[in-house]
Amino acid sequence: MADVNPYWQNYIDGAWVDGGAGRIEVTDPTTGERIAEHALADTADADRAAQAARRVHLSGALTAMGRYLLEHRDEIVSILRLEQGKPLWEAHIEFEGAALYFVYYGNQASTVEGRSIPLESGYMDWTEYEPFDVSAQIIPWNYPIEMTARSLSAALSTGNACVIKSPEMTPLTNAYLARAAKAAGFPPGAVNVICGLGRDAGAALAGRPDVNQIVFTGSVPTGIAIATAAAQNVVPCVLELGGKSAAIVHDDADLDAFENDIRWGIYFNTGQVCSAMSRVIVHESRRDELIERAEKVAKSLSVGPGIERNEFGANMGSMVSDGQRDRAVGIIETAQSKGAGVVTGGRPLNRPGAFLEPTVLAGMTPGMEIATKGVFGPVLSVLSFRDDAQAIKIDNSTDYGLVGDVFTTGLNRAPARYASCAPVRSLSTNGTQAALKRPLAVTANPAMAANRAARRYGTTCKPRTSRSG
Ligand code: NAD
Repeated sequence: MADVNPYWQNYIDGAWVDGGAGRIEVTDPTTGERIAEHALADTADADRAAQAARRVHLSGALTAMGRYLLEHRDEIVSILRLEQGKPLWEAHIEFEGAALYFVYYGNQASTVEGRSIPLESGYMDWTEYEPFDVSAQIIPWNYPIEMTARSLSAALSTGNACVIKSPEMTPLTNAYLARAAKAAGFPPGAVNVICGLGRDAGAALAGRPDVNQIVFTGSVPTGIAIATAAAQNVVPCVLELGGKSAAIVHDDADLDAFENDIRWGIYFNTGQVCSAMSRVIVHESRRDELIERAEKVAKSLSVGPGIERNEFGANMGSMVSDGQRDRAVGIIETAQSKGAGVVTGGRPLNRPGAFLEPTVLAGMTPGMEIATKGVFGPVLSVLSFRDDAQAIKIDNSTDYGLVGDVFTTGLNRAPARYASCAPVRSLSTNGTQAALKRPLAVTANPAMAANRAARRYGTTCKPRTSRSG
């Protein structure tokens, strides 16, 4: 494992600098021990970073930088495992996703082309896509390098200059994106990375009138605050605000295969995934069998520090912090007090670190908080249905609507589900988790839809008309 630098700085205008708000401790969530300190940005730092990005936007030149990441892979995944608490093999998966974004959006850069629209004689009409200019990106802690790579690669490949507000709990791997930008020859100010508290540096950045676009992934209340700030400056924002996604499991589903979907759907990244399969809505005739299988999957996982779990297998790391774990435990305890049953798990591990047992809950009613609100942890809620209409009603009983799965061997059932689940934007049959290249529907309560096309993420469409003669 790489030696961890005891102090990490922010990267503003091509220089590594201290933070106006001092320093923040970055801890290993598996032990609670300090890994390092990171400079903490204040509002003046956010101002300087945004001004630098604007200056570079006005100057032009931007290129790709994925190669630097690949050359530093071992160092980056090692830090990622430490700051986020995930097993090494999960850190590799996240890292690969991050590097792939640069390839994916880099290849789209030359395809950001407009349309030609026929008008009456003597007129020519067309559209062009132009960069937003300065893009502010506020990043969550669950996939710190991959989430930054997603928006940064799209914004750079379409000619924007960027300010990244890294997640204060997991800011270390974001430094490698700044290093990659420098190594790839980006001019100072093209990529700025600041770690700061959301209410200080994050809010300052979101509220700046010279920021032209905001990208945010995280909680619904923060998303609303950011959308409000964007509205006040009349600039667009892309929001991804979590989910309470459900799998409908029909009576004819292949439950042997479904065990694998449980393992990946709710226990990958310790359930801290916006599209996690946090609810299973199963036909009542298969309920007991499914619960038995879910319990078996949960109990098969060895839970502990990611640093001791290098190889892919039946293992799970810690949550990102004691606070996030305690929040999840609180939601489970409330569910129990309202009549839900804990099939397995539900408690913190009896050892230091932000560990939560892989959990399966059953016996809840559809309206209960556990069945409608995001837990963002390794907690699967099992509900049951009698007929398709009831399954869809239960599915729709949450405000979230990110992804949805249907498991059946009778494929004619899937379209009914697709047509009826109004809030669900991204649907799969007999599988879970969306692929990078798939258009991504992004929604919380407000139906914000984004799409994994560089021009959608990084540009604004400008219509043009010309009259001949
Ligand atoms: P959060 O939304 O408060 O924080 C996410 C990011 O937003 C961080 O970088 C934070 O510094 C920043 N931020 C916070 N307040 C801000 C503000 N007023 N203006 C600008 N930036 C601000 O999330 P959290 O408190 O870390 O986690 C709470 C819950 O959010 C989780 O339990 C989970 O349900 C959800 N969450 C979802 C995702 C996802 O992938 N959709 C990721 C992280 C958290």
